[in-house]
Amino acid sequence: MAAMTHGSCLCGAVRYELEAAPSSAEASLLHCHCARCRKHHGAPFASFLQVPRQQLRWLSPEQQLLSYPAPAAQQRRSCAVCGSVAPAPHGAERMLVPAGNLQSELSIRGGEHLFVSSKAVWHLIADQLPQQQAAPPGWESAELHGELERPSLPAGSTHGSCLCGAVSFAVSGAPQRWLQCHCSRCRRALSAAHGSNTFYAAAQFAWRSGRELVQSYEPPDAGRFTTSFCTRCGGGAPTERENVPFVLVPAALLDGDPGARPQAHIHVASKAAWYAISDALPQFAELPPP
Ligand SMILES: [Zn+2]
Ligand SMILES: [Zn+2]
Ligand SMILES: [Zn+2]
Repeated sequence: MAAMTHGSCLCGAVRYELEAAPSSAEASLLHCHCARCRKHHGAPFASFLQVPRQQLRWLSPEQQLLSYPAPAAQQRRSCAVCGSVAPAPHGAERMLVPAGNLQSELSIRGGEHLFVSSKAVWHLIADQLPQQQAAPPGWESAELHGELERPSLPAGSTHGSCLCGAVSFAVSGAPQRWLQCHCSRCRRALSAAHGSNTFYAAAQFAWRSGRELVQSYEPPDAGRFTTSFCTRCGGGAPTERENVPFVLVPAALLDGDPGARPQAHIHVASKAAWYAISDALPQFAELPPP
């Protein structure tokens, strides 16, 4: 009998299992670069397994998910405690399952890039996987993905927002650091291959709206890890911490081009086996030297 594959959000409140360990014969890995996925996950792109619906069994109550309406009467869903993205129906017969939340080693590799025409200007796709400008022909979740309208900005300022737009902020100047983080906490919190985290000095950052909607989650066993999300849409949000002089802003929330670019990959020793780093940025097994 094939092994089960377990999925869990970062805090463990949302749990499910896939009846088999997906292989490339029965599931495909999709890397979505659409603006809606980037804001929902708070990650540079989202990676999903597309699996037959009957293969997914919920181990926690599906009704407890934070649900946000998406185009065409669809829903985007997240954990209400930690903000991880939950599996969502994809047409009548399939589910899109965020690969970043699968706990077992996947044998599946590769896949293809979707909605490349909407990708973040600062994100480089350096691998040789097939690229679709939008959805593949006949794809059932096309309305759930795509562009978002956001107001244009005064010159010289960069603005950021969550998926629904209720949480918004401004940043000025270049981030102090910009790191592609592959640690298991980022992967589970963001339900993605890796995070792309910018760090702005407190003086460079200002809330514009929705600060009261931001909820943070800190795993009990983590000394320094905090993830934040918008409680209205489940989308990513900045993290401000007591006595820390930096604000962590997931780059996916930035509207427009922040000018700077990612500087390095970190915690590469923990990276997802199904994702290959193909760009030329320096890589550190854990953290870069101080
Ligand atoms: Zn959770
Ligand atoms: Zn998408
Ligand atoms: Zn929101």
